[in-house]
Amino acid sequence: MTLRIGLIGTGNIGTYHIDRITTKLSGAAVTAVFDVASTRAREVADGVGAVAHQQALDVVEDSNVDAVIIASPGELHTAQVLACIGAGKPVLCEKPLATTTQDALKVVEAEAATGKQLVQVGFMRRYDRGYQQIKSTFESGGIGDALLVHAVHRNPTVPETFREFMAITDSVVHEIDTSRWLLGEEIVAVSLRSGKKSPHAPAQDPQMVHFETESGVLVDVESFVNCQYGYDVRCELVGTEGYATLENPMLSAVVSSGARRTVVPAGWRERFDAAYGAELQAWIDSVPTGAYGGASAWDGYAATAVADAGVRALEEGRRVDVDLIAQPSFYARK
Ligand code: NAP
Repeated sequence: MTLRIGLIGTGNIGTYHIDRITTKLSGAAVTAVFDVASTRAREVADGVGAVAHQQALDVVEDSNVDAVIIASPGELHTAQVLACIGAGKPVLCEKPLATTTQDALKVVEAEAATGKQLVQVGFMRRYDRGYQQIKSTFESGGIGDALLVHAVHRNPTVPETFREFMAITDSVVHEIDTSRWLLGEEIVAVSLRSGKKSPHAPAQDPQMVHFETESGVLVDVESFVNCQYGYDVRCELVGTEGYATLENPMLSAVVSSGARRTVVPAGWRERFDAAYGAELQAWIDSVPTGAYGGASAWDGYAATAVADAGVRALEEGRRVDVDLIAQPSFYARK
């Protein structure tokens, strides 16, 4: 049976998902879309034989939509996810689940009240083979007990509208999720340091972000979103008996004139293309059973709470504790 997907937000990642569903993945079709940019939405809809609705909630209520993908701007996610929960429809919400901890909590409470998981959050790095190998090595005991995580998040450039807090809420939020997921524990405190500013950056950049976890693991993240040369994501989990590491993948290499030049990914699409595909196919395959393997609403809530603490740490120049509610039993880790 073909899963009929409604998609809200036909921008950058929304059209990326639609193209993938239509041309690369199996078991699903896009039947309805909405975007405030109505001309683009209509063009996208016409291209895949979908309906272009007048309002976002029309997509959720469409009887020809079994499940929803939300790819609108982050501040709209909470209301749109809550509408999906209200309609009993599974939803894959791009990160962030919400832009405030309070809003993310509303989603957690609404979903838990239904007694059924409906929400998956688009933290696609969980589907990247490199991260999966670090996690399986760690969980099999191959490097002992976790002590440290070192992460690097470099992006070539950001627009002039970039502000320091965005590095936390838009970029480092991925390291927040991967750290929690790899270690299987919550982040309890955040602090930041910044030093010399890159002349290419419209605001302070790079920034060093530090997390502390429940058991005392220290996580450091170099966030450098104007590195100029390409997209470079690395992660190393250091344990008591060894370490597991993920290098930036080499896309290709050219050897000539006595030198070897390797090509680094130009951006997030090139680096995580396979992970986006694996995430989306797994979600499509999971909708009939409800056995979702990706980030839950709880994970989205925890990531937002840590990001909120990070923004406060930035603004107040001090270490800030993360304020999480007790995890509802509905979300207990399996
Ligand atoms: P984008 O290109 O700006 O696309 C968002 C689209 O939503 C735009 O077409 C925007 O229209 C439209 N929109 C505005 N208001 C809307 C409304 N009320 N209802 C429905 N659509 C509305 O942004 P993007 O880069 O695709 O990002 C979208 C989301 O995906 C963000 O939350 C972002 O963080 C997330 N994302 C995640 C990843 C990842 O690694 N998982 C990567 C990229 C993006 P206008 O342009 O006319 O405002």
